[in-house]
Amino acid sequence: HDLRNEDLKDMHELGQGNGGSVKKVEHVPTGTIMAKKIVLIDAKPSVRKQILRELQIMHDCNSDYIISFYGAFISDPNICICMEFMDKGSLDGIYKKIGPIDIEVVGKVALAVLEGLTYLYDVHRIIHRDIKPSNILFNSKGQIKICDFGVSGELINSIADTFVGTSTYMSPERIQGAQYTVKSDVWSLGISLIELALGRFPFADSDDDDSDLSDFEGTLSPSRPGNLGLPPSRSKQEKEKADKKKKRKSKGVSLQGGGMTMSILELLQHIVNEPAPHLTPEGRFPKVAEEFVDSCLLKDPDSRRTPKDLLSSLGLRPLTSKHGLQPSSDTNVQSVLHANTSSIHSVIASSFTTTI
Ligand code: ADP
Ligand code: MG
Repeated sequence: HDLRNEDLKDMHELGQGNGGSVKKVEHVPTGTIMAKKIVLIDAKPSVRKQILRELQIMHDCNSDYIISFYGAFISDPNICICMEFMDKGSLDGIYKKIGPIDIEVVGKVALAVLEGLTYLYDVHRIIHRDIKPSNILFNSKGQIKICDFGVSGELINSIADTFVGTSTYMSPERIQGAQYTVKSDVWSLGISLIELALGRFPFADSDDDDSDLSDFEGTLSPSRPGNLGLPPSRSKQEKEKADKKKKRKSKGVSLQGGGMTMSILELLQHIVNEPAPHLTPEGRFPKVAEEFVDSCLLKDPDSRRTPKDLLSSLGLRPLTSKHGLQPSSDTNVQSVLHANTSSIHSVIASSFTTTI
């Protein structure tokens, strides 16, 4: 049966991202609760119809690790995508409320994402292209699923053209304009896992929320990654001036804290030129976890393994186990699942004072 906008009753907004917003809605005829993603598309009707056709592939994506799809429709000037509602929200929201996520849960996240990526690629030849904590969702059944994968080439193009933006989860080869492969998603997973385990974005010594570059005013575009227009290195004075300007902006693009300030271009250059981040400090996490993250973050995509290869290695040696034994992680999953806003304030206070 076709989904119609008239049948959907808005409940409340779940969040906003680069290309639009997501609302919790009720499908009144069936009483089904859904998440409705509204994407503003500045494109010809023929292109919109093409996008809609391409999105239909999502009907065939059936996996425990992939958000289910109810349908999509055009509601001028938007495209609406209706999907399974995940009542615990995304992992970025969870760690921002409760602080660093227990490494055992992070291990479960890694497994779920690798399962999802392997399914998408093996069965549908789909590459996700946007792995990050806000696209990994949790529900109170304890399920972990990924959403917002790149099923529609036309949608990717339209969003890229409309919203100048890029993501700091991009792999070095992607920043340099190479072809996207499943291994680029593995890099993004590695960055996301560190972010969850440390409770902060790994490239900045801060807890600020500017990992999305949607408000960057430069010429970055994911559709033209080879054309980043990296500026020549600036003089120190120029740099200080630029930094001050950035700080004045209410939602600047600099990642700062602990005396470190990085502009977006500096960050992208950093990802390309400097060693990849690690799970630090050494010894805080099980060796297998450190090694697993390191293997996701091999800078050379030829040495980096595919989701499928990593899945088999992780199946044999769970992230959490020091001795290759199966972890008993139920209690830790419960603590994440039962995190609610009332008990969160004290946890936030303690988690962010932990110096890493
Ligand atoms: P982004 O992923 O960049 O944050 P989105 O527009 O994709 O932007 O999503 C905005 C927010 O909506 C997400 O951060 C997430 O918390 C929430 N969200 C998205 N999809 C769902 C869903 N199916 N169920 C519950 N919450 C969702
Ligand atoms: Mg998203």
